[in-house]
Amino acid sequence: MRNVEGKVVIITGASSGNGEAAAKVLANNGAKVVLAARREERLKELKSDIEKQGGTAVFKVTDVASEEDMEELARFTLETYGQIDVLINNAGLMPLSYLHEKKVSEWDQMIDVNIKGVLYGIAAVLPHMRERKQGHIINVSSVAGHLVRKTFSVYSGTKYAIRAISDGLRQEEAENNIRITILSPGTVGTELFHTITNEEVLHSLDEVKKIAIPAESMAHSILFAISQPEYTAVNEMIVRPTKQEI
Ligand code: NDP
Repeated sequence: MRNVEGKVVIITGASSGNGEAAAKVLANNGAKVVLAARREERLKELKSDIEKQGGTAVFKVTDVASEEDMEELARFTLETYGQIDVLINNAGLMPLSYLHEKKVSEWDQMIDVNIKGVLYGIAAVLPHMRERKQGHIINVSSVAGHLVRKTFSVYSGTKYAIRAISDGLRQEEAENNIRITILSPGTVGTELFHTITNEEVLHSLDEVKKIAIPAESMAHSILFAISQPEYTAVNEMIVRPTKQEI
């Protein structure tokens, strides 16, 4: 596809859900994908699936909550392909709960992965993109980054933060020709709900899960943003199931 063929795209959280679907769709359209997540077996399988379809992929086991791992991921990509065209900061988790439950370690994890992971990703690729005066950073927020409901306080906080960080970054890097996209998905059928440890909260989402759209819908939105001409930046997208009211 126009402006996707040959691009080097790093995808965090590539071992399942939205990241995995994005990797497949982008590779099918000629991108060279760099798959990053913690589960090595999943990444290996995905690389092999992509190659069987004639695509190009490498993987690097990465914990996005580690600044060192994210710097290493960028170094590895530059050594392998010589450039980084796109970073998709997609890794995330959503252990929803009431604040009074004091699930402090889950709050910490969300802050570490959903916010710090994105910042470390930006930090790792920005020097290269600034030097080239070209690049694209896609940060995955959520509909929950636009509104908050009970049990979503911390998760929404992390996703609002992504929108703030992304728009500040957009303004700072406009003169360097770096495109910034915020993707805010609605309900998508992925493993994200597995991180919820409060059974009552998990079951309260049973109905909304029935209208979930496939992860490929997010992948096609990402493809759309990347495929625009370099002078056009799709800055923000909210992509919900048609049947999702809020
Ligand atoms: P999944 O649970 O299927 O995927 C989450 C991915 O994040 C996995 O690949 C996981 O890989 C990775 N991940 C988690 N922690 C880390 C870490 N410390 N380091 C590296 N990778 C990590 O869920 P989704 O595909 O749905 O989630 C992707 C993004 O989409 C998230 O940011 C989520 O908030 C967002 N989103 C999803 C919605 C939905 O309804 N599904 C709605 C709105 C937003 P591994 O465990 O192997 O490290």
